[in-house]
Amino acid sequence: MERTLSIIKPDGVRKNIIGDVVKRFEKNGLKVAAMKMVSLSKSEAECFYAVHRERPFFGSLTEFMSSGPVVLMVLAGENAIQKNRDLMGATDPKKAATGTIRKDFADSIESNIVHGSDGAETASFEIGYFFSGLEVLA
Ligand code: ATP
Ligand code: MG
Repeated sequence: MERTLSIIKPDGVRKNIIGDVVKRFEKNGLKVAAMKMVSLSKSEAECFYAVHRERPFFGSLTEFMSSGPVVLMVLAGENAIQKNRDLMGATDPKKAATGTIRKDFADSIESNIVHGSDGAETASFEIGYFFSGLEVLA
């Protein structure tokens, strides 16, 4: 059993595909262990993506992430971190494999519908950033 953080980014919420995204997780053996919808401030988005602060796209990425509501989820299951990454597909939807969330729904390398933790340490930081222990139910 492993936990990972998933975010349906503002473009996913705007496109009205929250249900489609959650369905992919549930159909593939991931359980929603926590879920809430919030609007991130620019500084909350900056802190969340702090590892990217030197990248040229940091300003644009954090503008985008704070441009509307997002859905925050903890997903739980066997090999949840890698399974979620596999279901998401490559960062750039043009390079994402057929049948992945980003291939099917994303418009660009920035507006790419979902976020997923990229390792065990990141997952632990990211889950703790948004959820208290009491809010995670699997
Ligand atoms: P995420 O961390 O959101 O799950 P990822 O791990 O696939 O995505 P990262 O390299 O961590 O990709 O980049 C974080 C996010 O920054 C990407 O999901 C995307 O929204 C944005 N991003 C990444 N590369 C670029 C780029 N070259 N131009 C614009 N935005 C980018
Ligand atoms: Mg990443």
